[in-house]
Amino acid sequence: MSIRENLEKIKTSLPPNIALVAVSKTKSEAEIMEAYQAGQRIFGENKIQEMALKWETLPKDIHWHMIGHVQRNKVKYMAEFVSLVHGVDSLRLLREIDKRAAQHRRVIDCLLQVHIARESTKFGLDETELKEILREDVLSDLPNIRIRGLMGMATFTDNAELVRTEFRYLKSLYEKLVCGRKDADILSMGMSGDFRLAIEEGSTMVRIGSSIFGPRN
Ligand SMILES: *Cc1c(COP(=O)(O)O)cnc(C)c1O
Repeated sequence: MSIRENLEKIKTSLPPNIALVAVSKTKSEAEIMEAYQAGQRIFGENKIQEMALKWETLPKDIHWHMIGHVQRNKVKYMAEFVSLVHGVDSLRLLREIDKRAAQHRRVIDCLLQVHIARESTKFGLDETELKEILREDVLSDLPNIRIRGLMGMATFTDNAELVRTEFRYLKSLYEKLVCGRKDADILSMGMSGDFRLAIEEGSTMVRIGSSIFGPRN
């Protein structure tokens, strides 16, 4: 199936209030344009410099989401244009995003990434760290960032019950700590292999790559 057909199949199967991030990491500009021509406007990348190159050449009405782990020294390359940073996992990183956003007179939307998987290789905050960042006195010092919600990645496994438990835990943190705050309305969870489960467990934004663009090299 073509990129357009994959995209249309996924879009018709998503409930209307779920945002779709087309994960285009490693994919060419021609492949991204095929999805663009089929109406897709939100794309997710996991390397800042790769995203910046694509931003420079592709249409300016694309919303670029940074979904990967963010190195502080590279924030400056995306501060001018990034529309949502999914992977914020420390206060130091949040401070850097705030500083670079201010240089461009912007407010950058961010999600706090929570560690929900069994794998220790995955990044993210635990509940205590999350609470520390979400304190009013901490956030009021960061006028150029806006916390829009939480993001998490479940364990890479065939065990659907484990994945469900992890998504349910993330949703419970979202409800307890984030939901109801000003501007917070995004729970980013679910990828090609688990997005249907994630939606059942309360996701509002799914990040789908290989089911749209085919396998990555
Ligand atoms: C690559 C990636 C995805 C998309 O993965 P697929 O399995 O190809 O859909 C989603 N989220 C993050 C954080 C990723 O790095």
